[in-house]
Amino acid sequence: MSQLYSCTAEVVDVLQPVDPIHCVRSDVLRATALRFVQAFPGDVLYAVKCNDHPAVLQALHEGGIRHFDTASIVEIRNVRSQLPAAECHFMHPIKAPDAIAEAYYKHGVRSFVLDHEDELAKIVEVTRGARDLTLAVRLEMPRGQALMDLSGKFGAPVHEAARLLRQCKAVAAKVGLTFHVGSQCVDVRAFGVAMDLVGETLKQSGVDIDLLDVGGGFPGQYTGSEPAFEDFCDEIRAGIARIGLPGTCRLQCEPGRALVWDGLSVICRVDLRRGSSVYLNDGTYGSLSELKYLGPCFPISVIRRHGEPVGQEWDDFQLFGPTCDSVDSMPGPHRMPADIRTGDWIEIGLMGAYSNALRTRFNGFHADRFVEIRHEDDGGKVTWLDSYKVRKVA
Ligand SMILES: *Cc1c(COP(=O)(O)O)cnc(C)c1O
Repeated sequence: MSQLYSCTAEVVDVLQPVDPIHCVRSDVLRATALRFVQAFPGDVLYAVKCNDHPAVLQALHEGGIRHFDTASIVEIRNVRSQLPAAECHFMHPIKAPDAIAEAYYKHGVRSFVLDHEDELAKIVEVTRGARDLTLAVRLEMPRGQALMDLSGKFGAPVHEAARLLRQCKAVAAKVGLTFHVGSQCVDVRAFGVAMDLVGETLKQSGVDIDLLDVGGGFPGQYTGSEPAFEDFCDEIRAGIARIGLPGTCRLQCEPGRALVWDGLSVICRVDLRRGSSVYLNDGTYGSLSELKYLGPCFPISVIRRHGEPVGQEWDDFQLFGPTCDSVDSMPGPHRMPADIRTGDWIEIGLMGAYSNALRTRFNGFHADRFVEIRHEDDGGKVTWLDSYKVRKVA
């Protein structure tokens, strides 16, 4: 079943792919996971929603990720069936009773997040007053420096969180606080601000927490000027010291994007070039919505039929996806070789986060081919992942 190719250009040359292809870099994902597990002074949970492809989960697990931030019952089912020993944490503050029940009784999930007393009542009722729960209260965050802000949807303000924490303490085995600063947060101080809110909540509640979860939001290095994960770890350590968190409190984080951003690229084809407008066979309803929402910060290279040379000059382009909807556009300037033409393939790099996870079937387009690329001493190999079970290649 498996086929090997030496590089993405060879994938294109051999297959002349009609549909977009996702290229998974498992060795990159493994290395990032290992680095994060070593750098963070606690448990690293992977936020599954960011990219739930089995090859991604597998590579992160091989890199040492043992905990998963799962935010729906389907994510919990998938993680538990692929990685039975992994621990799932149900991190969505608002859950259906059926989802809580299946998570608790069938999948052994004991860790739940909430931001409202009705949710607490729901959890207690569904689990029939279980005494083995870890309950974390989600704190509301101020509008921060994250490019994708989540404030306003989830989280309890400090005084409410303090009250919720006391209510949790009365019923749960362990209690904690959690927050999420928003995705692609490029300001380490956002975590310092969050830590101070944690400190204030602890003061108002008088509760000793067993767990502090600092969420996700750590940035991918798209421009190269984003702070590194280690910088955020320093800020978090400083915050912990400042608010005097007891040493018995366990720490955890939930990166999605920062674990996978450079672990995948997408190969797609130019259906038409019209001046500075390039029409692709993948777009915002497919795997490329980040090209619109984060903007033109993704590296794009051209792969030409039969290895024909590509010009050295570069120019600015705007991109369009294949559907008939005008939303399906990715305004530039996207830098691409100036001689790009109809029929070329392009490889868009750094597409690991919020790419294939957001695909729809709108207008009949749904790219579903994945290959694995391994950069090994002999140059690298590509393995088809269409039949994911077949992943060991000689
Ligand atoms: C989406 C999400 C994450 C992951 O966010 P990234 O920006 O991808 O790191 C972590 N925690 C929660 C609660 C989330 O909703």
